[in-house]
Amino acid sequence: MDTQVAIIGAGISGLAAAYRLHTSGRSVRVFESGAQAGGVIRTHRQNGLLIEEGPNSINGAGPALTRVIHELDLMEARVSANPDARNRFVVRNRRPVPIPQSIPAFLRTPLLSARAKARLLTEPFRTRGPSDESLADFVARRLGPEVLDYAVNPFVAGVYGGRPDQLAVQHAFPMLKTLEQKHGSLLVGGLRNALGSASDTDDAPTLSGLFSFRDGLQTLPRALAAHLGDALTLDCPVQQITPTADGWMLTHANGTTRAESVVYAAPLHQLGDGIALDTPLGLDPLHNLPYAPMRSVSLAVPKDAVSHPLDGFGMLVPAAESDLRILGTIFASTLFPGRAPEGQVLLTTFVGGARHPEHMELSTDATEAMVQRDLDRLLGLSGTPTYVHHVTWPRAIPQYTAAHGHLQGRLDALEAAHSGLRFAGNYRTGISVEDAFDSGWQAAGMLATADARD
Ligand SMILES: Cc1cc2nc3c(=O)[nH]c(=O)nc-3n(C[C@H](O)[C@H](O)[C@H](O)COP(=O)(O)OP(=O)(O)OC[C@H]3O[C@@H](n4cnc5c(N)ncnc54)[C@H](O)[C@@H]3O)c2cc1C
Repeated sequence: MDTQVAIIGAGISGLAAAYRLHTSGRSVRVFESGAQAGGVIRTHRQNGLLIEEGPNSINGAGPALTRVIHELDLMEARVSANPDARNRFVVRNRRPVPIPQSIPAFLRTPLLSARAKARLLTEPFRTRGPSDESLADFVARRLGPEVLDYAVNPFVAGVYGGRPDQLAVQHAFPMLKTLEQKHGSLLVGGLRNALGSASDTDDAPTLSGLFSFRDGLQTLPRALAAHLGDALTLDCPVQQITPTADGWMLTHANGTTRAESVVYAAPLHQLGDGIALDTPLGLDPLHNLPYAPMRSVSLAVPKDAVSHPLDGFGMLVPAAESDLRILGTIFASTLFPGRAPEGQVLLTTFVGGARHPEHMELSTDATEAMVQRDLDRLLGLSGTPTYVHHVTWPRAIPQYTAAHGHLQGRLDALEAAHSGLRFAGNYRTGISVEDAFDSGWQAAGMLATADARD
């Protein structure tokens, strides 16, 4: 055997699996098709700017990620979000309106009409819905159509690049469904959880709040890759995964590698479409996982070219604001220190998503003009940017639709049928960096447990 565990993909999920196995003394080999580790976590530096091409921040780290950040000596390199970034804006009537953070602010906010606010009070009396409901139907039924349009729709565009009518509540936001099932109400359940959590104690340290690193989010995969050293092979796409009598054989750009176990941590759309897996079970439903496309456009402009104070994390644009085209903008230079030189601001705007997949066809000039037009209307942006950086993600984020349960069932069946095969990544139990990290960590843990049983 060439190695105990072969890992396909050095995104954060593959790196997490590799790190856990490597530090527990297993021999691992990681094969990455790209020229660097980190997958969609990519930081670009130019003209004194620090631009995140993929994720911008991590929203709290669980015990495993916290432990790894400590072990890699990255605590000092970490930066917390600027306190100003607590403000988040949602656009209503072409104006960014702060999301209320207190009951008096909620009562005053123009984000929802008085009628929509009053309807929220009736939420505990709504009946339960079917388990296969879309997020849009769930929210409209429990919280009302205005909350759907001006809270959930923009939030889902910001997180998933998605649309509430296409996502299944039980897969995309299982917590909401659980609150309904357990407490009969989101408000009552949320309140009970908030009161209960004060007395919950968990000894494992975790990191709370939004954070990144002084040199950008790619600091994390870079440190994981450095830890792995020669165990990581870049520029080496895997083409085939074949079960053998005593394990697995991978066929890749550099030849073949035999391994006792395999962690598949590449995007799921690659399976059967770039990476073949020999299995009698077939891969059919796995191809059906939809991904939202996304383009990010980062603009650096002189501070005085924007009339808005940019005193927040960023703004989200609901689909109901139909004359606007962008999905939302992160006020990147407010969010973390050191993102733009003195006197300049950095704004990262997302376009496309499942709301406007047609925008992926636009030229960079047309996209930039569209972004500038919307930012002018919303933030009072004027003049010519000093720097513009475009990144296109044709398949940015997996969408947890009604078919997701079936798809997970097929992945579970593949793992059960093929001993030593595990799937990890943002298509499993959540799309955030922390979720993807955790899925790799869990996959490694399951392999280690299975080894101990043998
Ligand atoms: C634009 C954008 C913004 C986001 N913003 C945030 C955010 O602010 N906060 C947050 O928490 N999350 C955010 N996310 C989500 C989060 O970043 C991702 O879900 C997560 O990083 C995915 O990690 P992964 O390991 O599952 O997959 P990936 O990062 O996709 O890694 C998979 C790896 O597999 C490799 N690979 C593919 N094919 C092969 C092959 N044949 N052989 C070998 N290797 C292969 C790829 O090159 C890649 O490196 C964002 C995502 C995007 C795209």
